[in-house]
Amino acid sequence: MANFRHADTMRVGAEARLIVETLRQVTPRAEIVAVVTTSGRTVPGFDLEPLVGAKSQSAFEGIRERVEAQLAGKEPLGSFTCVIDDVEWGVLIDAIELLDGQIVGALIVARHGRAWSQRECSLTRAFGGVFSQVATLATREGVLLHQRRLDELVSQVAERLMSATADNHKEVLNWTTRVLAEFLNSDVAFLRRNDHVRGVSILEAEWPLREDVPDPDPLGEVRFDADPIFMATKDLREPYLPGLEDTTENYMNRVEEGSGETLIAGAAVPLLLGESTWGVLGFIHFALRAWVPAEINALQAVASMLVQLQARIDAEERTAYNAYHDDLTDLPNRRALLRELKHRLGSRRDTAVLIVDLDRFKVMNDFLGHATGDRLLITIADRIRTSIRATDYVARLGGDEFVILLDEANSEMEVLSSSYRLLTVIAAPVNIGGQHVSHTASIGIAIAPSASVHSGLDLLSWADGAMYVAKARGRNQAVVFDEELRQAANERSRMELMLREAVEGDGLRLHYQPEVDLRTGRLLSVEALVRWQHPTLGLLAAADFITIAEETGLVLEIGRWVFAEACRQLAVWRRDYPDLAFIVRTNMSPAEFTASDLVEFVERCMRENNVPGERLCIEITEYAVVDEPEKTANILRGFQQLGVEVALDDFGTGFASMTELKHLPVDLLKLDMSFVEGITTDEYDRAIVESIIRLGQALHLGVTAEGIEGTEIIEKLLELGCHRGQGYLISQPVSSKDLTPMLVAGGVPLSLLRPAKPTLEFASTLS
Ligand code: C2E
Ligand code: MG
Ligand code: MG
Repeated sequence: MANFRHADTMRVGAEARLIVETLRQVTPRAEIVAVVTTSGRTVPGFDLEPLVGAKSQSAFEGIRERVEAQLAGKEPLGSFTCVIDDVEWGVLIDAIELLDGQIVGALIVARHGRAWSQRECSLTRAFGGVFSQVATLATREGVLLHQRRLDELVSQVAERLMSATADNHKEVLNWTTRVLAEFLNSDVAFLRRNDHVRGVSILEAEWPLREDVPDPDPLGEVRFDADPIFMATKDLREPYLPGLEDTTENYMNRVEEGSGETLIAGAAVPLLLGESTWGVLGFIHFALRAWVPAEINALQAVASMLVQLQARIDAEERTAYNAYHDDLTDLPNRRALLRELKHRLGSRRDTAVLIVDLDRFKVMNDFLGHATGDRLLITIADRIRTSIRATDYVARLGGDEFVILLDEANSEMEVLSSSYRLLTVIAAPVNIGGQHVSHTASIGIAIAPSASVHSGLDLLSWADGAMYVAKARGRNQAVVFDEELRQAANERSRMELMLREAVEGDGLRLHYQPEVDLRTGRLLSVEALVRWQHPTLGLLAAADFITIAEETGLVLEIGRWVFAEACRQLAVWRRDYPDLAFIVRTNMSPAEFTASDLVEFVERCMRENNVPGERLCIEITEYAVVDEPEKTANILRGFQQLGVEVALDDFGTGFASMTELKHLPVDLLKLDMSFVEGITTDEYDRAIVESIIRLGQALHLGVTAEGIEGTEIIEKLLELGCHRGQGYLISQPVSSKDLTPMLVAGGVPLSLLRPAKPTLEFASTLS
């Protein structure tokens, strides 16, 4: 490459000399190579010794006179032949002019005899152009003018770059490359990006835009190690302006052979992003080119703006990407899924929606730790990604739930068989840090034939419903949402609507189920159980609607109503039965523990109804503790500080381990009825109940049994050391009014509990 670098006024002389010498080298047949200036004009550094052979000295004088006359305006400027001392001379001249068009001198190349070749003519012109540039910059006005135009260029580019967006930024890059190239008179300009990870240089913008770009484009992506020039741009830190000094004749010849172009000059300005070279802005001239510091400064300014633009666009793209992707697995997220689903349904393709939910993932996650859980999720995400077809789609909904969209899903059989294939793929053991973890999943499927018009949300909720059925049927299977499930789902959403009305209106009731001392029949407590006075179905038990309430969040409002109502009722009983000290228990769902004001709420209800904490108990299940054990424990301690008792309901069915129990602020364990039922018949149940009773004793916790339906169970419980219980045998849950006889009696007759040995004192007072 032939470049003259940094031609400022100080160095103009050296530059000019170098240009003349180079011209001499590339036109070996010339006998005269000289620079003349117009008379009266001085251009610093241009008073060069002409390169003239001794024998041609007088001819040069003659030629100089002609040229000077021409320059003075007497004759038009142009190449000519003339005869001096009987020898014919061929003279090539090129004017040296300032930026404003003023001609200050000329470059002369002459020899005798033969005509000049096309190449020599164009060479001289190219060198004349460089001289013009050097001359311009040798004058103060020239420098200032050039600087001003550069400043304008930079601010024009800055303005355009500033308003670029991710959508039009390619266009803006091409535009920038073009205006820079036009300004600098470059023949080719380009912007390339370095991909250091893949070790390639990538074309981002170019000028002029090539028309028939081959595919693949040999200039599109080039490995750094494929070419020393590209290697040089990889970690370029400073502008690279290969100069004539760096250039060998050999290289120039090669360029000429290879390109048909005579001389090539270039500039490469790095785009620096912190420690790394983000890319390079390059300019190529099929001629000579002098670069001045002001130009390089301007290019560096543009380069840094380009990097900033790129950083901004990357950030925008990253944000947009994050908005549609899941951090952990890098799969599309829920939002992306809904967009895709809408698109697919809109284009009327047969689509099947599969919701894949890992079985008991939470237990595994808690047991093996979240890091392991995360790795398992990543592995499963990859497995799904690689096992579906290119036209299918997978997203992660969050947690352990994935959604797959199957394309061309026209038969239920096909979709089912794809689903079972997926289940096998998912369940293959994963090696995580030496442990083999294997995990089954359940799949719910909703199929939308192309002819149907359903919303994506409908399909998702149907697939979700089918997935729950798959879980309920024993997990590790796929279930299609069919007509039967559809009806059940419809029923459910109707229920949901009506429940909301009931909660907002006056549709809820409380029933109370007594707990008694199994040895005496004395009333110990009543458990408040919510009921729904359904307009057509009658009075519904909590079991019939509490799950819906929990899933829809309605349970929060229900819970508040229940507790307030229980307190109100307790106040009435305290007034009517001042001698009875039984406790009123209420149930609270895990969701209620997310409210930050739960303890304050409880305290307010107590205060407003003037009931002491000692007369209240709050029942929770182990599930309330699982998610945020610390936070829940704090709330429970808050209850205890108010004097309110805390009971662990359905104990034995959740996952709270025996050791965790030690740290939980609870006062009472309620043995789940599923074990209680079996204690007279099932060894296993009896063993569990017995161990829970022992545990309660060891931890100084009360233990009570739920679901007592037969007297033989009471006998067994007493034998095992549990003497508290509730159940249908003693009483069904009843309204406050129906509870009155028992309140009056202070309990139930002992005969009811132990018919075999009716005893006396207490029972007789009751009848
Ligand atoms: P739970 O707290 O374990 O309540 C006991 C459930 O078993 C009650 O059903 C009760 O009617 C029933 N039951 C009691 N004794 C027997 C028996 O001897 N045999 C049989 N087969 N069943 C018996 P219910 O009222 O339908 O409540 C079901 C669950 O709903 C409750 O289980 C509790 O977890 C929840 N629940 C009830 N009321 C509320 C409430 O106000 N708020 C919240 N968050 N949950 C509630
Ligand atoms: Mg309960
Ligand atoms: Mg229970």
